[in-house]
Amino acid sequence: SDYRLNEVDVTDTTCGYCAVGCRFDIYSKDGEVLGVRPNPEKAPINGISTCVKGKFGYKYADSEDRLTQPLVKEDGEFREASWEEALDRVADGLKEIQDEYGRNGLSLVSSSKTTNEANYLMQKFARQVLRTNNIDNCNRLCHSPTVAGLSQTVGFGAGSVGTDALENTDCYLITGSNTTEAHPVLATRIKQNVKDDDADMFVFDPRKIQMAQFATQYTRIKPGYDTVWINGLIRHVIENDLHDEEFVEERTVGFEEVKEGVEKFTPEYVEEKAGVPPEELKRAAETIAEADSCTFCWTLGLTEHSHGTENIVSMANLALVTGHVGTEKSGLAPFRGQNNVQGGGGDMGPIPGNFPGYQKVTNDDAREKFEEAYGVDHLPDDEGYTITEQFLAADRGEIRGMFIQGENVVYSEPNVSHAGEILDDLEFLAVQDIFLTDSAKHADVVLPANAPVETNGTYTSSTRHVQLVKRAIDPPGNAKPDWVITQELAERFGYEWGFRNPSEIMDEINDLTPIYGGITHERLETEGSIPWPCWDEDHPGTPHLYTEEFNTDDGKAHMFPTDVSGPVEADMEDEAFPLAMTTGRVLYQYHTGTMTNREPGIRSYTDELFVEINPDTAADLGVSDGQVVEITSRKGSITALAQVTERTGGDVVFVPMHYFGRGDVANELTDEEHLDPQAHVPEYKVTDVRVAPTGEG
Ligand code: SF4
Repeated sequence: SDYRLNEVDVTDTTCGYCAVGCRFDIYSKDGEVLGVRPNPEKAPINGISTCVKGKFGYKYADSEDRLTQPLVKEDGEFREASWEEALDRVADGLKEIQDEYGRNGLSLVSSSKTTNEANYLMQKFARQVLRTNNIDNCNRLCHSPTVAGLSQTVGFGAGSVGTDALENTDCYLITGSNTTEAHPVLATRIKQNVKDDDADMFVFDPRKIQMAQFATQYTRIKPGYDTVWINGLIRHVIENDLHDEEFVEERTVGFEEVKEGVEKFTPEYVEEKAGVPPEELKRAAETIAEADSCTFCWTLGLTEHSHGTENIVSMANLALVTGHVGTEKSGLAPFRGQNNVQGGGGDMGPIPGNFPGYQKVTNDDAREKFEEAYGVDHLPDDEGYTITEQFLAADRGEIRGMFIQGENVVYSEPNVSHAGEILDDLEFLAVQDIFLTDSAKHADVVLPANAPVETNGTYTSSTRHVQLVKRAIDPPGNAKPDWVITQELAERFGYEWGFRNPSEIMDEINDLTPIYGGITHERLETEGSIPWPCWDEDHPGTPHLYTEEFNTDDGKAHMFPTDVSGPVEADMEDEAFPLAMTTGRVLYQYHTGTMTNREPGIRSYTDELFVEINPDTAADLGVSDGQVVEITSRKGSITALAQVTERTGGDVVFVPMHYFGRGDVANELTDEEHLDPQAHVPEYKVTDVRVAPTGEG
């Protein structure tokens, strides 16, 4: 840089991209980010590492098309408006819907990208002010089965491990996680442990992802049959007396039911259904069971299924049967996607059934506690609609108004064309974001918010570490922090919250959310990061969970048998759609691309949507590398560039889930109705398709 160190501002903060939770110093001058340097003393998770997004992904913040002033729509066109006018219009719009259709005629979408404090206030706004539990966030579309599956087996809807289990375990089982691309810094740690300390690593994935090169064994699986191969592993462990008898006896219930439930998952059956060769099943089962410690890692490949919750319960069963939960180097490790999906998307309660800290809205004691704190007589005791249900309810005309904070739902929802039509049909829509996203274009009012580098507050990482986020540069124009906007909206309904800063919001969170009881901004300033649960100011935090007991009524882990659950569409065996499309992340993109598509450096790597096709399949279809192909599902058609590669298996094609800024998007093809019955996540990971060359390219 052209500046001396004493001429620039240095801000220690937390990365706003993924939930690995890297911390670093941002160097800035006159509102521009000049560079990023990790400060190992303040970075418990990443040390000296960052990935390309955390290091270089800041140009979007001063992009010319940032929203700087509220917009209101008049005769179908946006015009700039004052904050007064825009907020009045949002308040009036929300009130009118409630007057006409009742309190549940509205729904709210909160954001896994914004801070814990902003999400806490969104749920407070929904419950105290609007008296509805119709609030959800995009956590629903990724790890909601993780939350549902882990809550019912081990207690907390979160990973059990700290950084030790990720960096120093003796064995990894990794599935449905393209770790090098989705969680790069974590992948480096895992590879180091495999290389330097000979940790075993078993990768089960439909694609031969980069992690496979470092694995003890890579097994290609058919997408959508995870309960089958996981139950096959459990069966082999139990049949050969490799289970941890003492752990099972003392710390779990349900073993006999699981033992009986896995009987049918013979090696032959597992091979036929899930494509796993018996010798690979045997080697993985034996190594995992005999290892001193093992960490079970997954991302959306395990969750985004019509039976995602069953997948997670199966994974928890495997970890419990082998006794690999509750020690420093063993445990359950869901890798979360967005920067704050654990905290803002889950812990803070912007979800239909939970107050902050996973306290149930259906529990009388919990409701009474929040009624008293919020000074209201009755909080709703009925669980609200999940985000996927909100869209279905809006389609039926039951929900007539929405308020969306920081989510580009038209690209993240399944069947995106239909999602856009649903937004258009609403009587009132307000969107709060940093750009006029494709979702915001459907709105009646658009409120300009702050980007992660302009924000103060906290995020919570995948390993439950709560960490401070600090404003490194000023926001453009009149854009405001998310929490300020929500507070000013609440005022228009007669609620004076009076928070002066995010630290004061955290004080209220401390009072009402036991697992965050002792996590104050003051402590974070000196201690750097604190993993929850942290019950009070004297508690040090909990890096790994369940060392003595599980978070259940009887303190034991609860195992449940799971059955064969295949993907809904692939099981239709329809000749018109002979291939299965699966989706996932690529390194240089972040979700719907709102930020990364504005990064020239990052963009140059990913300009066009592509589809990976196995060479044999490509030959059968008459498709060659670089050609444009049409991909068609029961919901629609898109075009993409063919990448002919061994990475993907015979009848599976892979399409990135991101919107690349031009061309088509994979979610045109996915289905909005095949939902997991418990978590309501759509089946993004397996969609029946056919592929044909278009003659271009
Ligand atoms: Fe940011 Fe995740 Fe990259 Fe770390 S690994 S720098 S948290 S995007």
